[in-house]
Amino acid sequence: MTYDVIVVGGGASGLMAAGRAAQRGARVLLLEKNKTLGEKLKISGGGRCNITNAELDPRVFLKAYGVSEQFLYSTFSQFGVKDSFTFFETRGLPLVVQARKRAFPQTEKAKDVLKVLEAYITKGKVEVKTSSPVTRITSGAEGIMAVYSGKVEYRAKKYIFATGGVSHPETGSTGDGYTWLKDLGHSVVDPTPTIVPLSTEESWSKTLAGVSLSFMKITFFADGKKRFSKTGKVLFTHFGLSGPLILNSAHLVSDLLYDGAVTATIDAYPHTDLGALERNIISVFDKNKNKALKNVLKEIVPNGTTKGIMLLLAPLVDMQKKVHSITKEERKQIVHTLKALPLTITGLMGFDRAVVADGGVPLEEINMKTMRSKKVSNLYLTGDLLHINRPSGGFSLQLCWSSGYVAGESAAG
Ligand SMILES: Cc1cc2nc3c(=O)[nH]c(=O)nc-3n(C[C@H](O)[C@H](O)[C@H](O)COP(=O)(O)OP(=O)(O)OC[C@H]3O[C@@H](n4cnc5c(N)ncnc54)[C@H](O)[C@@H]3O)c2cc1C
Repeated sequence: MTYDVIVVGGGASGLMAAGRAAQRGARVLLLEKNKTLGEKLKISGGGRCNITNAELDPRVFLKAYGVSEQFLYSTFSQFGVKDSFTFFETRGLPLVVQARKRAFPQTEKAKDVLKVLEAYITKGKVEVKTSSPVTRITSGAEGIMAVYSGKVEYRAKKYIFATGGVSHPETGSTGDGYTWLKDLGHSVVDPTPTIVPLSTEESWSKTLAGVSLSFMKITFFADGKKRFSKTGKVLFTHFGLSGPLILNSAHLVSDLLYDGAVTATIDAYPHTDLGALERNIISVFDKNKNKALKNVLKEIVPNGTTKGIMLLLAPLVDMQKKVHSITKEERKQIVHTLKALPLTITGLMGFDRAVVADGGVPLEEINMKTMRSKKVSNLYLTGDLLHINRPSGGFSLQLCWSSGYVAGESAAG
């Protein structure tokens, strides 16, 4: 059977594309390699799904996409932020706007977003084949001729590739689309490696700019939950943190920033437990009984960090206090602070935006009014297959809704 449209990939953008093409009357087949649809959608926003960004001024909104802004007007004018609100809210999923204009389903469940999209494609009678990885495509002068899942051949007049990028391959996005697109004559930009420094909020760490410390343990938290720890060398800078330990943590932090506020603690003495550290401090205090705490501090903190740690401790313990009158409670405060120097991660450095995801087909190779490939006449591309720098905050999924809708509309037309 020849379909009107075959959509390859049942993630956010593929579901929107399939649903819209079907709504426009096309006979649509959706091929998904996983057993279930929308695996990445289900983990997005830490399972809460930051569905879009409620910046309703399209000019301000599109600025978030940096150099890609100029290409996106024609796509977003057909389906923009307001349309996303209407789409989900009229289908029984009210949205709420939280800090930084991030919009979430009121239920804070990504699964509910998926349910809306599944209902959308069901209503349009999209034929869905899960556990059907596309393994091969054939093409000729007229464009794509067929796609194959193993030995089974599927044909359509138009094809929409929505196979996603390469992040979190366990969700099914393994870069298959990139390989086919290269074979079809597209150029594919590699994703920018996220080996970059981190920017932080706190001034205590910035006063330590230039100080580098070996054997520090950093633990990252997202939405208050412990996520991962690493040990190594940290370099404090005037904007935040760098050094091998930080550079090698950045790609994981980049993912966490999607999940919500990211904080971290640095354990300045990872190889000394709380009790041993307190005993060391007691022994230093015993030798310096009549000195003010501020004059003894350098003996109990890592080399070069006195100024910054003094800033941190000042609200907790009087720095002028003689060491002999420091209470047990205050001593414990000092120990706990040294074991968990607090930081708020505000973003990744090295790009002009906080967190970016990119890689894929350059927009110059796509007609952004229709999402049609300029290299293959019956092919449309959506979502993470497009090379667009973008921050976290709902901008990636909005790109999926917009590009998916436009691709579905055009392919059906
Ligand atoms: C941890 C994390 C959290 C995120 N949170 C947010 C957030 O809160 N807000 C936001 O805006 N963005 C978020 N993003 C980004 C957002 O999830 C993605 O931009 C979006 O899901 C991409 O959708 P897509 O349709 O392009 O591709 P995908 O969702 O990756 O879907 C591609 C689909 O194609 C299928 N596929 C691949 N190859 C084949 C093949 N050969 N044959 C058949 N099917 C195939 C895959 O199995 C998959 O189902 C997050 C990303 C990550 C990694």
